Amino acid sequence: MIRRSLLRHCPRCGNHRAWFTNWFKQSDHCIGCGIKRTRDTNGHELGSITIASVVNITLIVIAMGVAIALTAPDVPVLTLYIVLASAALIFPILTWPMTHTVWMAIDLIVRPMSSGEAADAQAWLENQS
Ligand SMILES: [Zn+2]
Repeated sequence: MIRRSLLRHCPRCGNHRAWFTNWFKQSDHCIGCGIKRTRDTNGHELGSITIASVVNITLIVIAMGVAIALTAPDVPVLTLYIVLASAALIFPILTWPMTHTVWMAIDLIVRPMSSGEAADAQAWLENQS
């Protein structure tokens, strides 16, 4: 499930579109298996926001460390600041969908679908066809 989610696929069924209608917009259900994006949990998005924060801060810190290591002792502070500030704006856009699918994979591993949730997903799928 984690491998599927890292590719922005639904962790449950592997559908490549999962619940995304485009890079930034999500529908309520996966089009492949019908699982609800939020699994009827208040605050479900907090998990993906946490993953996004950890991943993006880690990427920025690694990039900063590599840049400093490569340019020391004459570190171009202004250039480094501009590049890393730009990266801090771009990285979250690039990683945003995967943070949602990875969080769903973790949630499904920790809290597998109940029979009621699976039945709701199947009913949603049947209503779509
Ligand atoms: Zn699915």
